[in-house]
Amino acid sequence: MAKKYKQNLHCRPTAIGVIPWLWLPIVILTYSLCAISADKTAIDPVAVTTTTNPQIILLDIDYLSSLKETPTQKKEAFEEIITHTPKAKPKPVPKPIKPQAHTIDVAIIIDDLGYNKKQGLAAINLPGQLTFAVIPHSPNAKYLAIAAHKKQKELILHAPMSNIHNYPIGESGLTDTMSEADFNNALSDALASVPHISGVNNHMGSLLTQKRRPMEWTMKALKDRGLYFVDSRTTSHSVAWQTAQQFNVASLKRDVFLDHQRDTAFMDEQFERLISIAKRKGYAIAIAHPYPETIEYLEKNISRLKEHGITLKTASDVVNYHSPNKQQQAKM
Ligand SMILES: [Zn+2]
Repeated sequence: MAKKYKQNLHCRPTAIGVIPWLWLPIVILTYSLCAISADKTAIDPVAVTTTTNPQIILLDIDYLSSLKETPTQKKEAFEEIITHTPKAKPKPVPKPIKPQAHTIDVAIIIDDLGYNKKQGLAAINLPGQLTFAVIPHSPNAKYLAIAAHKKQKELILHAPMSNIHNYPIGESGLTDTMSEADFNNALSDALASVPHISGVNNHMGSLLTQKRRPMEWTMKALKDRGLYFVDSRTTSHSVAWQTAQQFNVASLKRDVFLDHQRDTAFMDEQFERLISIAKRKGYAIAIAHPYPETIEYLEKNISRLKEHGITLKTASDVVNYHSPNKQQQAKM
């Protein structure tokens, strides 16, 4: 048995060696078939066609040509590749963004906060996004500012300015007789004395707001600190708003004083004016005071704004949306 096996091993190379010319064509043929097969797996039509790269499609056409097919076969094979191409998902067409109809905005600023603690707190407790203007160095300025801030109410400095009646304007008040340095020091002091402020409006100021130079100094200081300005319009000759525009300070003007007279009939009239101006312009700014009558009136009537499709917003929201200049990042 072992001898027979040995004989078989011995016989194989002998047989190949005997007829080498017979093996050569077989080896060549086998090698060619393997090469074609290897090529086929190297270019997987599905894999190729899942890409949109035109170079790879061209490569595939080259491959098809290399198979030496007839033009019809080539076309069919190519069409099959195209047919099996998974259709690329159409890119979602972005829907045109409809400009949202903006709400009609009203801001109500409660001025002169800082003297009467009880009335100040009552005003801060009014519902909605009221804005509170605090007089610098008034006895309860810091206390009320912190209380308002805790209630997430907006605060501004109620900057005292000289007036045509010569009413006293108190500490850190601004006058047209000050040098630029004194003016800037007084304004810096006032701004630093009330925490959490995001803007300024004028307390009195029927004289100072008519003066171009002091208004330029004011607006430069506000611009440097990223604060907005509401012109209380204590005189129709005020140049404060125009100067704010020149210095790129976000600014609007007061439209209505709600409580020059503290009776309900007068406040009703002013409230109606506020609503009608807001509807006409798209926004309006009112100024009121922390008088008991005003607080009572606002408690009863703030909800009327909503009935008219008007939104009560902070002064900064209204100013930043409607002012030609937008407020810069506050740096206070
Ligand atoms: Zn005031």
